[in-house]
Amino acid sequence: MIQHLSQLGEFGLIEQIRKRFSNIPDGVTGIGDDCAILPQQFGRDTLVSTDMLIEGTHFLRRDISPYDLGWKSAAVNISDIAAMGGHPTATFLSLALPATTTTEWTDEFLRGYAELSERFGVPLLGGDTTASPDRICINVTVLGECPSVRGALRRDGAKKGDVICVTGSLGDSAGGLKAILDGVKRDPDVQRLIDRHYRPVPRVSEGEELRLNLGVNAMMDISDGLGSDLQHILDASEMDAEIDVTSIPLSLALKRVCTSQGWDPVELAVSGGEDYELLFTCTPQTEMLLSVPHFVIGKITDRARGDAKINWRGASRPLSPGFDHFKKK
Ligand code: ADP
Ligand code: MG
Repeated sequence: MIQHLSQLGEFGLIEQIRKRFSNIPDGVTGIGDDCAILPQQFGRDTLVSTDMLIEGTHFLRRDISPYDLGWKSAAVNISDIAAMGGHPTATFLSLALPATTTTEWTDEFLRGYAELSERFGVPLLGGDTTASPDRICINVTVLGECPSVRGALRRDGAKKGDVICVTGSLGDSAGGLKAILDGVKRDPDVQRLIDRHYRPVPRVSEGEELRLNLGVNAMMDISDGLGSDLQHILDASEMDAEIDVTSIPLSLALKRVCTSQGWDPVELAVSGGEDYELLFTCTPQTEMLLSVPHFVIGKITDRARGDAKINWRGASRPLSPGFDHFKKK
């Protein structure tokens, strides 16, 4: 049956790809988590992830500075290594650029990319460069590593009774994007949200530290939105969840901008993506001992029936899930 991708959805297509290429070597983890995991010698695993940013889909050239775009391209990829508690070791950068792109643009792009990479000590080791008819397309591949014992934290380990935590406030990035698109006047609060949208900081040391805690059972980074990303943990772990909407951390800047603009901060926190905070589940005993700053927002419950469900406690109206590239909202 021929279907449009708008019906199948991003994750439907990924599932078809996964089924078509299901024959993978023993011990290797492929499609379905933030990174692929490839066991190496001497008790270490290599982590690999790749992400693409397309002009018109992920950014508008007139809105984002090339510096910020460079920063963000490196940051969102390194975040996928952080998402599993790994240590990033290298990136590869592929660029498709229209011939009209200026060297001023590329210099600034590389400056942003280098600054974020240097901050996390991650060298750029290769890539590919090609002309594009009109739109900028950026693809980054990132490599990382972690020990095999107490190894990468996957999405499928959440257990009944685990508390659900995030490492920082949610919704700022989505608020920043909304402010850009709506042309909201840039006071310091609005600027703070826009900065979080354009210059996310991957939670690398937090991820590595969380991996070392035995009671942390599942982890990922929040790229598509809390609703959508928690759903991935629940699907992979065959669990349901209960979220106390009133305990989702919201920054003061977001609350103030939402009050003045009449926006719902909870909606932005749940449905808006690109916060790049870590979302993890752990036993209540472990949670009390964690030194990584975090907020408890709910708990993992037994799978009731059918598909994974999130029970949003304290929500004043139904909350929409996060981003899907093909499905229309
Ligand atoms: P993230 O948001 O963490 O970058 P995605 O939601 O993009 O992850 O992808 C989910 C999973 O599907 C990942 O394991 C990713 O490697 C895999 N995936 C996505 N697109 C493709 C593709 N075109 N071919 C193979 N695997 C893919
Ligand atoms: Mg991810």
